[in-house]
Amino acid sequence: MLNVKDLHKKYPNGTHALKGVSFDVTPGEFLVVIGLSGSGKSTLLRCLNRLHEPSHGSISFEGSDITHIKGQPLRNLRSNIGMIFQHFNLIPRKTVMTNVLSGTLSRTGVFKSIFGIFSEEDREKAKRFIKIVGLEGKENQRADNLSGGQQQRVAIARALMQNPKVLLADEPVASLDPATSHSVMQYLKKVNEELGVTVICNLHFLSLVRQYASRVIALKGGKLIYEGQPLDIDENW
Ligand code: ADP
Ligand code: ADP
Repeated sequence: MLNVKDLHKKYPNGTHALKGVSFDVTPGEFLVVIGLSGSGKSTLLRCLNRLHEPSHGSISFEGSDITHIKGQPLRNLRSNIGMIFQHFNLIPRKTVMTNVLSGTLSRTGVFKSIFGIFSEEDREKAKRFIKIVGLEGKENQRADNLSGGQQQRVAIARALMQNPKVLLADEPVASLDPATSHSVMQYLKKVNEELGVTVICNLHFLSLVRQYASRVIALKGGKLIYEGQPLDIDENW
């Protein structure tokens, strides 16, 4: 589904954040990217949906080279690859429903919230995803009235509105306590298993990795140092 070959990313200030990373992602897997802070995890995810443009190497998605695409092909890619972040990035004073609806894309891949026009079908879809992330009944609550874990689940529902084939999660539980982290990971797993969305998730807790990942890659200093099953990973990675 995604094929990454010899990927390098050098930032304009000279930081060489990825130094020749290669791996493949198969449909339906729950891939965890593990590594210390600064190892290049976030840069890698941002290259996969082309928030960043790689400096060298290639990425293909479903057989098409996406390394340097622009314009409509890039909008198409972004509609296939959703993303959630450590800090949720919700609109705090708006309701759960409005936040989830803001993830709706028009057919050209532009966010509909720019125009503020949502169909009854969009609303039904939003309700369905709000239910999937366990927030049924909270549609009209303001986002800033929810707990951190609930806000992250709203962000998951919002990302689902674009019908992504892949969901990128950049340290989705880094600002949550352990119990809440498990809850968010369980909903990500549910999205992976029930909706068939491929998940690629950055984490730094080995315990969560073992419990939720179907496969793991580990980064260190911008290089891939391990690829395999979560159970085989060395405690001292
Ligand atoms: P991680 O997600 O594993 O913490 P990052 O991908 O955020 O790692 O960062 C990898 C390296 O690239 C770090 O040295 C970081 O400071 C640097 N970096 C990240 N984003 C930028 C940027 N926009 N400009 C310059 N350097 C960056
Ligand atoms: P987070 O942990 O939420 O990703 P970071 O502090 O790592 O937050 O990064 C916040 C933003 O700053 C990101 O867009 C990242 O690309 C950018 N960034 C990170 N490190 C650097 C750096 N050394 N120079 C410039 N930008 C950076």
